[in-house]
Amino acid sequence: MLVRKCPPPLRASFSIVKAGLYYPPNSLKTRLCLRGRQMMYSYCAKQEIPHRRLGKLVVGREEQREYLSKMHAKAQALRAPPHWDHSADPQVLPTEILSGDAARERVPQLAREITSALWSPSTGIVDSAALLASLEKDIRDAGSTIACATRAVRIDSDTAATGVQSPGFVVQTVTIRRPRRLISLSRHTPHSRHGRQRALRTGHRLAICPR
Ligand SMILES: Cc1cc2nc3c(=O)[nH]c(=O)nc-3n(C[C@H](O)[C@H](O)[C@H](O)COP(=O)(O)OP(=O)(O)OC[C@H]3O[C@@H](n4cnc5c(N)ncnc54)[C@H](O)[C@@H]3O)c2cc1C
Repeated sequence: MLVRKCPPPLRASFSIVKAGLYYPPNSLKTRLCLRGRQMMYSYCAKQEIPHRRLGKLVVGREEQREYLSKMHAKAQALRAPPHWDHSADPQVLPTEILSGDAARERVPQLAREITSALWSPSTGIVDSAALLASLEKDIRDAGSTIACATRAVRIDSDTAATGVQSPGFVVQTVTIRRPRRLISLSRHTPHSRHGRQRALRTGHRLAICPR
């Protein structure tokens, strides 16, 4: 089940695929970011979602040289997170320290006071609208529910709510307003005009979702 309060973007926009440079080395955030980046590029390639590994340059003045060196050392020391595909990316977080002049060869507009830079080739961009549309299609194709403009107020295991052993959830929701875009809802959340009005009047609805 996908629960998303905000409407999806209406026009194409690009978001950054983060490399994982800034998070603490042993954190869950780093593990998720590294593996998530790998999965993101693989998914985009498979689904033909527009994306590019543009790379990123973190630039610094003389007094920031040490900061960039430490970031580089941290990146080099990172261990592969669980399920890492080594054949796709032999290096977990590739980085390279560049001199100011080498950085200016890539970005000629950089000021002279930039004396060092960290190059991160695995940072990229993805068309987030195309990505969301593809994820939305995957969810529908799997027979799952997308409930727009709807707030989840309570989620229980199906067993706790019904007393019957069953591998699902009972989700209690409130429709906030009419969505900008009509997206079909499952049989548990009627999408007919009548169904939506009734839901608005009564407020709460229950949707039973497979795990
Ligand atoms: C301006 C901006 C730009 C960013 N750009 C990037 C970028 O380019 N690349 C990048 O990697 N990260 C970017 N980030 C960070 C990124 O958006 C977050 O790290 C990421 O979205 C966190 O994902 P999440 O699923 O944990 O939370 P969210 O993306 O916040 O998802 C939570 C969702 O749950 C919904 N929700 C909450 N409560 C309820 C409820 N009761 N019922 C129903 N729905 C509910 C919310 O409406 C929301 O849609 C950006 C952040 C901001 C603010």
